[in-house]
Amino acid sequence: MQWTSNKIRKAFLDFFNGQNHKIVPSAPLVVKDDPTLMFTNAGMNQFKEFFLGNEKPESTRVTDSQKCLRVSGKHNDLEEVGVDTYHHTMFEMLGNWSFNDYFKEETIDWAWKLLTEVFGIDKDRLYITIFEGDKEDGLPRDTEAFELWNKHVPADRILDYDKADNFWEMGDTGPCGPSSEIHVDIRSDEERKKVDAKKLVNQDHPQVIEIWNLVFIQYNRQASGELKPLPAKHIDTGMGLERLAMVLQEKQSNYDTDLFQNLIQATEKVTGVSYSGSDQKKDIAFRVIVDHIRAISFSIADGQLPSNTGAGYVIRRILRRAVRYGYSFLDQKEAFLYKLLPALIKEMGEAFPELKKQSTLIEKVMKEEEEAFLRTLEKGIQKFSEYRKKHDKVEGEFAFELYDTYGFPIDLTDLLAREEGMKLDLEGFQKALEDQKNRSRKATSMEAGDWVEVNSAESTNFVGYDQTQAEVSIARYREVKQKDKKHYQLVLDQTPFYPEGGGQVGDKGVLKNDSSQISIFDTKKENNLIVHFTKELPKDLNGKFKAEVDVAKRENAARNHTATHLLHHALREILGEHVEQKGSLVRPDYLRFDFSHFQKVTDEELQQIEKRVNELVLENTPLVEKRNIPMDEAMQMGALALFGEKYGDAVRVIKFGDSVELCGGTHVPATGALGLFKLTNETSVAAGIRRVEAITGAEAYRYISERIQQLDIIAEEVKNKKDPVKGVQQVIGQNRELSKQIDSLKQKEEVAERNALLSELKELNGIQFLAKTVDLDAGSIKNLAFKLRKELKNAVILLGSKGKKVTLSLIVTDDVTQSKGIKAGEEIRDLAQHIKGGGGGQPFFATAGGKDANGLDEAYKQIEEKVKSL
Ligand code: ATP
Ligand code: MG
Repeated sequence: MQWTSNKIRKAFLDFFNGQNHKIVPSAPLVVKDDPTLMFTNAGMNQFKEFFLGNEKPESTRVTDSQKCLRVSGKHNDLEEVGVDTYHHTMFEMLGNWSFNDYFKEETIDWAWKLLTEVFGIDKDRLYITIFEGDKEDGLPRDTEAFELWNKHVPADRILDYDKADNFWEMGDTGPCGPSSEIHVDIRSDEERKKVDAKKLVNQDHPQVIEIWNLVFIQYNRQASGELKPLPAKHIDTGMGLERLAMVLQEKQSNYDTDLFQNLIQATEKVTGVSYSGSDQKKDIAFRVIVDHIRAISFSIADGQLPSNTGAGYVIRRILRRAVRYGYSFLDQKEAFLYKLLPALIKEMGEAFPELKKQSTLIEKVMKEEEEAFLRTLEKGIQKFSEYRKKHDKVEGEFAFELYDTYGFPIDLTDLLAREEGMKLDLEGFQKALEDQKNRSRKATSMEAGDWVEVNSAESTNFVGYDQTQAEVSIARYREVKQKDKKHYQLVLDQTPFYPEGGGQVGDKGVLKNDSSQISIFDTKKENNLIVHFTKELPKDLNGKFKAEVDVAKRENAARNHTATHLLHHALREILGEHVEQKGSLVRPDYLRFDFSHFQKVTDEELQQIEKRVNELVLENTPLVEKRNIPMDEAMQMGALALFGEKYGDAVRVIKFGDSVELCGGTHVPATGALGLFKLTNETSVAAGIRRVEAITGAEAYRYISERIQQLDIIAEEVKNKKDPVKGVQQVIGQNRELSKQIDSLKQKEEVAERNALLSELKELNGIQFLAKTVDLDAGSIKNLAFKLRKELKNAVILLGSKGKKVTLSLIVTDDVTQSKGIKAGEEIRDLAQHIKGGGGGQPFFATAGGKDANGLDEAYKQIEEKVKSL
């Protein structure tokens, strides 16, 4: 039987389904509502709350295939990817879970059975590791796991390892526990005879690798570093699909499995280079590219676009790494990654329909990012060659500038340096890098203390859909320091405060009782806890409090949230079904809505959209809200679901007429409450993504009445109440007419002045000479000078003017310059001194500006003397 990756995935899920596990979908790659994590880095992330006891699962046995991304935080494999053959940025993790159900015995027995009986892996090639215990954490050796394994595996192939290898933790804090890993030896029989695999386990050997990790979750790591036992014991396992495919397909590299073959072939075609196995650098570039294209495409499909900060920046860095490998080692000087997308879709589009559905967007975004980065690279390379001219060594500081500003990883700079025979100061670079890291760590560091329990409550009961006030008690609190500023976070047993989510900002308000009142300045969700932010704690934390939401702000936010739904609906109606929400911000004062659309929205379209939304407002359609209904039912209602959103089994549906969306936000009871809807702006956010901004209610009224007032003032000014536009057009028309008249008058004046001047020319030393003050502006004098120069021969003319500014203009015809060697540009500098100014110009015409009109006569005298003396 040929184990294709699709068959492997299915066999895994079927096996656990056979042991009463519920098959659930993968959570999105991009994590929301968790300040400790940007991307899903393990199958267990989405179940964290079950482990912590903050939430109860519907089913105590679950299995799935989870998309994971390990490029930041505690689990970061980025630098390995491509260099080795078995670490990816994005990979699929097959897993089975027990939430306070079965524990070690079943986990171990099933894992063994699946690998050896279903998948038929040779028992002699499997090695087991277990946790040896840890003094610092006060933990004993996991002897229980040893005994259970020993039923299947001889003792000498069960190896003890310390906590670095066999104690699994998701991040710096959170659920954790001892683990037991299964390693496979895929070397040839010959190789196996030479070196015992036991010596190669956990040694980064590419053919003796870990495939499955079984984690026995029993503790919660506190911020203080302490381990706190969890209320119940759980199982969390993870097996990389790509590595399992390599084993079952009898390959030596993940990249030789069916999962990557299409992509490798496509890359060969696009680049014209072959993945040979003989040229190390080129092969690494291939692996980097076919790996990264997956991570980039899946993230964009999940709604995470490349950007300058946070998760978006991580995606940008992955993309740049791929481009740079292509650039340096496969000679790709133009955008090429985006051309590989069809191959990826062919491979994975079946299992992940979001890829297919969003292919146009992914392609556009990727192409634009690639092109932008290539331009930056070119600039950096130019910068490098300029630097080369002046230096013969690459200083650390400069290498860092290339890295920081132009996205040059150090090995690219090293390559350039070596090509030029220059030395690179690697230490200096590392130091500059370290300094920067320290700076940014200081700038963003957030220290959250451990939660202090006041009253026990498992999670927060949110009552804010039905009420804006509630009687509450404090369940727990903690102190948080950020950039030297301190605030507190409170969790309540129940709360009317809406936590930031679905684009809508968190509620503000107060928490009060007889003895104190504190204000809540923000509310956020952390996993499934609702956290209230406050600058001060109440005097006494015990007892009952009244929680009151700032109702005016909440109602305005609700208007804007309903408006985003109507807007989304209208956009799809008017622009087409390709429009998909790509982000939104719902605040009390305005809303912002990002969506996929591939050209600018025209003014007419904007008008139509605005009109359509206002029609929906006037219809005053009532809200139909369905809480806690199964996903299937929501889909039957026609709900628009977004890719990249994590929805539990039960969802909330918000329906206004034909607009039906899955949504957790707050809304108005009927669309009429919006009062008025006004679009205020339309821009582009990224390739293929447009953004509109809008306002509703009182804000929209204020905006419009302000505009009308301005219009009234204009109507008044142009004396046309009925039709101010016509009035303004008339004024503009008159203005144009008057300008024309002025121009023609000026011309006449110039002619008259010219004639007058010509009649005043007198002969001096054989030269036609004149020096006097005229009543013309600088522009006219210049025009005149150009004309006279063409018309006259053998002339020197100095014209002064004393308007706002005192000026001198000197004309020396070419023949005088040639025969007498006098140049206007030089003369004027001397003359300018008389009017206390400066000037310059060409040999035939020069001007000077100054302050002192009294000096004009002196200037005339001087030029006259000069002409006489020639
Ligand atoms: P390794 O030591 O090989 O990096 P790990 O200890 O980081 O592995 P776990 O965190 O235990 O791995 O993850 C569970 C399983 O997921 C691993 O046994 C492996 O099959 C797979 N896996 C982990 N990291 C990657 C990766 N970067 N790419 C592909 N598969 C991975
Ligand atoms: Mg690892």
